Amino acid sequence: EVEVPESHPRYESLLTRHRIEAGVDRGITSRQGLIAQGRGEAYDYLLGERTIESADRAERAAAAYILQADHAVVSVNGNAAALVPGELVELAEATGADLEVNLFNRTEERIHAIAEYLREHGAEAVLGLEADGRIPGLDHERAKVDADGIGDADVVLVPLEDGDRAEALGEMGKTELVVDLNPLSRSAQVATVPIIDNIVRAIPNVTAHARELADDPEAQRDAIEAFDADEALSAAERAIRDGE
Ligand code: ATP
Ligand code: MG
Repeated sequence: EVEVPESHPRYESLLTRHRIEAGVDRGITSRQGLIAQGRGEAYDYLLGERTIESADRAERAAAAYILQADHAVVSVNGNAAALVPGELVELAEATGADLEVNLFNRTEERIHAIAEYLREHGAEAVLGLEADGRIPGLDHERAKVDADGIGDADVVLVPLEDGDRAEALGEMGKTELVVDLNPLSRSAQVATVPIIDNIVRAIPNVTAHARELADDPEAQRDAIEAFDADEALSAAERAIRDGE
């Protein structure tokens, strides 16, 4: 364990990095996940390590979609599990969404390690161990999903999904809520709701919005209507270029 002084100007960023390292040590995060984290950090730095206004609107719209879903599933990979395990469990609890472990580089060990880690953080049910469903158009290992989870869902929240799978899920007609710091990423570009924000800030903020919108279907519809995916992507690019 490395101690980071809270006074350090990049405290949050360093803490996040250590959580990913610990995730690799525990067998939760893949080594590829370290590279993904590096890419994310670069964009977060350019965005000013803050939730820009349009990302907050995206997080509110995502919350509304989850609340209105027949069956919402939150997909959890090795980076998401390492960074925000408790926050993912809280989001699922606040909205009634299911949690499904879904990995790009799938191994039984990692799936079980992640499911166990989520249970340690209070998750009651964790899907993804079965993986008896398939996403059409992808090669075997990457196509695996739980038939009762993502396979059945109408709304899926996918943090840090890869472009191919994001596209294939969209083609299955699912409403996709994607958390990705890179507005140029294909995953962000194909999402119904691209959330251009760090997962560390995004997940708790989706939960906060969900709690606020929970008993208000009209406010949920407003949040969805007020959101424009193309505008959100442009706003993130402007924030990166001009610091707006
Ligand atoms: P592409 O989408 O450009 O084809 P890819 O998605 O296959 O590439 P990866 O490196 O696997 O490439 O993608 C990881 C993505 O996750 C990057 O776009 C990165 O910005 C994003 N990312 C990494 N860490 C975080 C984080 N903590 N919060 C949000 N997004 C993150
Ligand atoms: Mg991507």
